[in-house]
Amino acid sequence: MANNTLLHAESLTKVYMMGQLFSKARIVAVNSADFLLTADKPEIFTLAGESGSGKTTVAKMILGFVPPSSGRILYKDADITHIRSRREKMQFMREIQPVFQNPFETFNPLKKVETYLYETAVNFGIAESRDTAGAEVEVALKRVGLSIDAVRGKYPNEFSGGQLQRVSVARSLITNPSILVADEPVSMVDASLRMSIVNLFKSLRDEHGVSVVYITHDLATAYYVSDRIAIMLRGHIVELGTVEQVLDRPKHPYTQILIESVPEPDPELKWEKNIALTDLERVEYGLAGCKFAGRCPKVMDICRHADPSYAHEDGRQVKCHLYTDAPSTVST
Ligand code: SF4
Repeated sequence: MANNTLLHAESLTKVYMMGQLFSKARIVAVNSADFLLTADKPEIFTLAGESGSGKTTVAKMILGFVPPSSGRILYKDADITHIRSRREKMQFMREIQPVFQNPFETFNPLKKVETYLYETAVNFGIAESRDTAGAEVEVALKRVGLSIDAVRGKYPNEFSGGQLQRVSVARSLITNPSILVADEPVSMVDASLRMSIVNLFKSLRDEHGVSVVYITHDLATAYYVSDRIAIMLRGHIVELGTVEQVLDRPKHPYTQILIESVPEPDPELKWEKNIALTDLERVEYGLAGCKFAGRCPKVMDICRHADPSYAHEDGRQVKCHLYTDAPSTVST
């Protein structure tokens, strides 16, 4: 393990039991996800995939919203998987901040948005009181291209979706985090304003050294903003590499198909939404062998009973029998 680890998801796994008493199914929503962000090179690392791929569950585990079933998360070499003390939890929450999908749900419509900024500063111990939080609030707003004059006295409905998402990012920056975990942060923003939010992530990386874990189904913005990208399918990372490797020269058959047909956004997808699976998803989660075997144009006999291991090449990894000499263990 590199000693300059910023964030390391190590064999991260989440298992849910779905259904009623006599039709219970064991769903491995995230299956041994492994990736590492280094401290010396801030980056935008994207987790991309369809609804039900497990990408949002990975985000929730990184943020401590749901515990992993197995595996662990290291932040700067410290295991943060099962933090119990409030002091440690607050410290970790300062360092890794969420950016939510829908800014209009992030803010109470009856509360002035500036209140959130001041409250965050006080709640995380950045300032002793609202009266002394002004400098931190001003700095965070400046980082997203706003000023306190632009938000003072205003309610959420007085902002566009793009402006409000900027305020939401400013709130996340109050604690001066090292990492933002942003789940579909532009899917509820007008198409014309999406790039400005995506560019904001780039400037936070370049000018302030903030790494971003960007969760999306949208390969267009992923291509534009990402340094590296991991493609997820039914809980597995099936391909991971630089954005040029994965999106310009995709090797995994699923990545190739995904690039050809990007699915429509799911406006109902929310952080706390209960997992609901389509019939196809249920079937694919339960498949032995490769989860893509039922849809893959290059499927082979081995794919139906043996889970592929990862092939490694120039820092890229691909989980597919086309690129491995020997199959890994038979999956269950
Ligand atoms: Fe297709 Fe087999 Fe590769 Fe899965 S392992 S993507 S089924 S070729």
